[in-house]
Amino acid sequence: MDMNDNKKRQSMIVYVIVALAVIFAIQSVFYPQIQKATITTVDYSQFLADVDASKVSKCDLNTDTSVITYYLKDSSGAADESQTYETTQFPNDATLVERLTKAGVDFSAHIPDKSSDLWMAFLLYYGLPIAVFLVGGWFLNRQLKKSMGDDMTFGGGFGGMGGLGKSGAKIVAQKETGITFKDVAGQDEAKESLEEIVGFLENPGRYADIGAKLPRGALLVGPPGTGKTLLAKACAGEAEVPFFSISGSEFVEMFVGRGAAKVRDLFKQANEKAPCIVFIDEIDTIGKRRDAGLSTNDEREQTLNQLLTEMDGFDNHKGIVVLGATNRPDTLDPALLRPGRFDRRIPIELPDLAGRTAILELHAHDVKMEGRIDLGIIARSTPGASGADLANIINEAALRAVRMGRNRVTQEDLLESVDVVIAGEKRKSTVLSEHEKQVVSYHEIGHAIVAASQKGSMPVSKVTIVPRTSGALGFTMQIEEDEHFLTTKKEMTDRIAVLCGGRAAEELVFGEMTTGAANDIEKATSTARDLITRFGMDEKFGMVALGQVQNRYLNDAATLTCSEGTAQQIDAEVQRIVEEGHQAALATLRDHRFKLHELARYLQKKETITGEEFMRIFTRDDGFAPNLPKPEEGATRQ
Ligand code: ADP
Ligand code: MG
Ligand code: ZN
Repeated sequence: MDMNDNKKRQSMIVYVIVALAVIFAIQSVFYPQIQKATITTVDYSQFLADVDASKVSKCDLNTDTSVITYYLKDSSGAADESQTYETTQFPNDATLVERLTKAGVDFSAHIPDKSSDLWMAFLLYYGLPIAVFLVGGWFLNRQLKKSMGDDMTFGGGFGGMGGLGKSGAKIVAQKETGITFKDVAGQDEAKESLEEIVGFLENPGRYADIGAKLPRGALLVGPPGTGKTLLAKACAGEAEVPFFSISGSEFVEMFVGRGAAKVRDLFKQANEKAPCIVFIDEIDTIGKRRDAGLSTNDEREQTLNQLLTEMDGFDNHKGIVVLGATNRPDTLDPALLRPGRFDRRIPIELPDLAGRTAILELHAHDVKMEGRIDLGIIARSTPGASGADLANIINEAALRAVRMGRNRVTQEDLLESVDVVIAGEKRKSTVLSEHEKQVVSYHEIGHAIVAASQKGSMPVSKVTIVPRTSGALGFTMQIEEDEHFLTTKKEMTDRIAVLCGGRAAEELVFGEMTTGAANDIEKATSTARDLITRFGMDEKFGMVALGQVQNRYLNDAATLTCSEGTAQQIDAEVQRIVEEGHQAALATLRDHRFKLHELARYLQKKETITGEEFMRIFTRDDGFAPNLPKPEEGATRQ
């Protein structure tokens, strides 16, 4: 049933090659009569000499072209027709007839029948190929129809080129999706919203009886990798209905009008197979606001219009539900979102701690693991990771286990793969010089000490100076003990101080700055900016929103919505906040300078130290370290 464009194109190419071969063969059968007999063109004087020498058997004059065709006598005196001679008659040669008669040549003249010649040529050159194409095309069409069933047409002859105007949307039968809600961990709110759609698809009649109208479409909205596609498939699997899936980008093609044809075709197929789910992935590709900007795209607009028409047009009692997925709901055309189209919006959020644990557990089922594995730690060290990231972490761990020649995944594999997925693969080829290693060690320990000495700050889980492919030369991983959704101002300024800790340590110890702090500075600055413009926490500006977040799902960057003068003041305020953090970090590190030296040297030697090791050294009372957090505050975890 699944006859895609590619297959069509292939059979088309084979057909053209075969047809050309047939034409060539036929023409070389017809031509030899004309072509094989060798024609020699000679001078007129040579012809006269042959006549006078009585060598010529017979000749024929074409009165139209004045070409004389003649044959010589063979040994028996008859005409030798294997060799044809041609010459052009010299104008006004009155003596020719006399000479021919004298030499006993059979001579004649003929007026060529132009019309019949033309017809022959026309038939041979044009008629034959056309006939071959038509007959071949018709035949091929019949064969294809026989083997494909009747759901596609392959127009005969030239019209059939690639089956223009037909789409062949992918049909995935319910057995093939094979995914149910059990395969989606967490996302309980989204599942709840989709339950109703599933119920409707299982029994459309029940809803029709009461006269209830169900949503025709629902939009799954959320960041990439949160399981939108997965949920749509699970919906079809739960309801055991066919699942028509197409991606927005597949609609936008080279030929104008094909996208619209695809939409038409998709809904026609869906109508035949109802109840069913039509899933349009990345719908923002076609559903962009139509008035947006100067660059209009006719093809996209046509496709969108067709989609709107189809969504209004289909008979909802049969049970067709259109699901769309996007991570850019803000760019969608309002027409798509009005009642009767994608009126229901199902937010799919990044998983929380419980969700992350559930997703990890679900994917861990597929790999063989050692007995003592604590997925909770992994879940806690991956705030902000999407479902796809988590699935990837489990898989990376399995790959690492195989690389190490083990047949079970260990906790260490998992921890390591967190680094790989979150921070990029360990970069083996970057070899740091001893001095660089020393600088990076102080930098990372600087972060860690500032973090650990702040009361209420997250404890450090790991400090490393092993370079990553992402470009980070080292990193300090902090663990959130408990997830929380509200962040206080103090937490934000503390975070800025931690980010400044790396540079501060470099300054204190080496009296110099390096480029290693670039990323920290970026993060500290944007945190300070958010504090002022989005969260209204700054004393100077108060509770005024000075910026606006364009897309909550792709990146959190806000654009300023204030006047230029205010923007200047904001910049100054950002500077002040970051500088405060910087000074706080410097003060903390001065207080703990002995620990800073000890820990940095230890890290430089070991390259990676765990949070426990760090805490053991940091909280050990050496008798001269001031302001040490007491052990129970110091977040030493079991
Ligand atoms: P999206 O369409 O939102 O970008 P996908 O649905 O393609 O994301 O998810 C990608 C992969 O991530 C899935 O194939 C699945 O392995 C994993 N995944 C994401 N979310 C979940 C979840 N809630 N439960 C289980 N696996 C998930
Ligand atoms: Mg997707
Ligand atoms: Zn840093």
